[in-house]
Amino acid sequence: MCGIVGYIGSQEASPFLISGLERLEYRGYDSAGIATLKQSDAIRITKVAGRVAQLNSAVEAANPDGKTGIGHTRWATHGAATQVNAHPHIGGSGNISLVHNGVIENFETLKTGLEAKGYRFESQTDSEVVAHLVADSLASAAADRAGETTVEDCIDAVRSTVAQLRGTYGIVVMFRDHPDLLVAARCGSPLVVGVGKGEQFVASDTSPLVGFTERIIYLADHQIAVIRPNNIQVLHRDHGRVRPDIQPLSNQSQDVNLEGYPHYMLKEIFEQPQSIRNALRGRLDKDNATAKFGGLNLTTQQLRGIERIILTGCGTSWHSALVGEYLVEELARIPVEVEYASELRYRNPPVGSDTIVFGITQSGETADTLAALREMKRKGHHTMAICNVIGSSIAQEADGGIYLHAGPEIGVASTKAFTSQLTVLSMLALYFGRLRHLSFEAGQRIIAQLERLPDVVEKTLECHAQVKEIAARYADANNFLYLGRKFNFPTALEGALKLKEISYIHAEGYPAAEMKHGPIALVDEHTPSVFIVPQGTVYDKVISNLQEVKARGGPVLAIVDHEDPHVNKLADDVVQIPEIEDFLQPIVASIPLQLLSYEIALLRGCDVDKPRNLAKSVTVE
Ligand code: GLU
Repeated sequence: MCGIVGYIGSQEASPFLISGLERLEYRGYDSAGIATLKQSDAIRITKVAGRVAQLNSAVEAANPDGKTGIGHTRWATHGAATQVNAHPHIGGSGNISLVHNGVIENFETLKTGLEAKGYRFESQTDSEVVAHLVADSLASAAADRAGETTVEDCIDAVRSTVAQLRGTYGIVVMFRDHPDLLVAARCGSPLVVGVGKGEQFVASDTSPLVGFTERIIYLADHQIAVIRPNNIQVLHRDHGRVRPDIQPLSNQSQDVNLEGYPHYMLKEIFEQPQSIRNALRGRLDKDNATAKFGGLNLTTQQLRGIERIILTGCGTSWHSALVGEYLVEELARIPVEVEYASELRYRNPPVGSDTIVFGITQSGETADTLAALREMKRKGHHTMAICNVIGSSIAQEADGGIYLHAGPEIGVASTKAFTSQLTVLSMLALYFGRLRHLSFEAGQRIIAQLERLPDVVEKTLECHAQVKEIAARYADANNFLYLGRKFNFPTALEGALKLKEISYIHAEGYPAAEMKHGPIALVDEHTPSVFIVPQGTVYDKVISNLQEVKARGGPVLAIVDHEDPHVNKLADDVVQIPEIEDFLQPIVASIPLQLLSYEIALLRGCDVDKPRNLAKSVTVE
C-alpha cells in the first residue's frame, strides 16, 4: 500500500525523493524514509516515525547528499509504525538498502534461516528479510570473487531473492558498491519506471513522475528493471531480457494541487459536477438512445448474449457495485451478483460461460480486486475494469473496461470516484438495456436525466453551508444509523462508511426496513439516524421507518428531494436536494452525506485527508 520512489542520475536525489513521497503520501503515512548514496561512501538513511513533512525537516537537517536514492512512505503490515520499522531497510552490514511495498507471507521461515546464518534483525517488518536475502546472495558472490561484486551479481542477487518470496512485493534495491545502479522488481505491487535523459526514476505510481519525465514503463509481475543513469533494461525473473514497452505518461496525473481548498476531500467533493461531466463525455449516443464505450472489446452480439453479470470490488467500490445491481437489473433485466472481491477470490462459485465480470476500483491496484479478476480470467471469463487510473494493473490486465476520467483522487475517503462509478454504471445499464428490451423512448428519457446530472450535482453542493451548521449538532454522537431503501440502501451504506472513515464515529448503514431486525435497539436520544427519503415507490415505507425511530426518541436528519411538510414535521433536521429520477438519486443524495462526514470530522479535529489506519489504495490483501 505504501509509496515508493527512486532516483539515479546527475542531480541530488533527495529533492525528487521528498517531492515524490509528498505526492504518494495518500498511499500510506505511518512513517517515511529515504536512503541516498554517493560514490565510495556508505548508504545514508534518514527516516522518521511520522509524516513526509517530518522527514523533510530531518532531511534538511541531515542534508544526505548522493545522486542515487530510494524513498518510502509506509502503511504498516508487520510491526508498529516506529522509526526502526520505517523503510528503507539495510541488508547485511550495510552493503545494500531497499524499500518494499507488499507482504512477504513466508517471512518467518526465511527469517529463521537468515538468523541461523548470523543475520541480526533490527525491525519487526517482513521487508527486512528481503534486504538480508539480497545481501546474503551478494555476499556469496563476493566470496567467489575475492570480495568484489559485479552488476550481474547484484541483478542475480535480486533475482534469486525474489524467487524465494511468497506474497506480494514491489521492491527497489540500491547497492553500496554500485552507486550507478538501482534494481527494481515487482510481483503484485505496482512499480513504474520513469525514463529520462542521463537520469531515471522509479515509483509505485505515476504521480511522482509528473513534471520529471514524459515516458514511462509499467513493470509487469515477475519483471526486474535494471536502472542505470543512461539506460534501463527489463528482465523477466525466469526468462531473461524483455523489450520494455515505453508509454507516454498520461497528463491525467498532473492535477495534484489543493487549489485553495483546505483538504483534497473537499476539493474532490466540489469537483463532482466536472468529474461526472468527464465520465459522461462522448458516451451518450442520442441518435440511438443508448450509451457507447470504446473499450469493452466484445462485439454487440457477444454482449447481447450475456446472461449474468458479476460486479466485484472493495469498500466504496463495493457500494457502487450494489447500486449497479439495482441499475442493471432494473434497466437491463440481467441478473447481477455483487461480490466482495476479497471473498470472490477464494470462493469457487458456479459461473456460466455467458457471465461477464466487472471489477470496480478507483486505483486499479486494489489487491483483492486484481486477484479476483485474475481468477475469473483463468477460468475463461471475460473480465472488465471500471477504474480511474489509466494504465493501472487492473486496467492493463482486464480484457476490457471503462475509465472514469475523474482525475486523481487523493483524499483517502472516496467521493468523486464513487459518483463517477455510479455514472458509468448507469450508462452501462442503459447500454445493456438497449441491447435488450428497453425502448427507444425509455433510452431517451434516461439520457435526458444523465445530461442533467452535472448541473443537478452543482446545485446540490449549495447545501454545504446548511450541512455545516447541522454537523455541529451531531458531531458529539458516538453512534449513527444511515437508512434508505432500494437505490438508496447502498447510499446509506456509503454515507455510514464516509463517517466511520474520517471521523471515527461508529455508523451503520441499513436498508431502512431491516432496522427493525436489530439496529433499532441502538436508537436513543444520543443516536442520530440519517434517513434518505426522496420521493418514489418506497417513500411511504421509509416514512414509516422514520416514524419508528422518532417514536423511540432518536434524532433524525432527513435528506428529501422536495419541499416536504410531512418530513419537516417529523425530522429534527432536513436537507433538501434537487429532484432526479430514482436511479440517479444515489449520486445526488451522496453529496450532503459526504459533506456531513467532512464537517463532522473537522469538528472532531480529525485528519480528513489522512485518516488513521487507512490508506488510499489497498494493495495488500
Ligand atoms: N510489509 C511492509 C511493512 O510492514 C511494507 C508495508 C507497505 O507496503 O507499506 O513494512
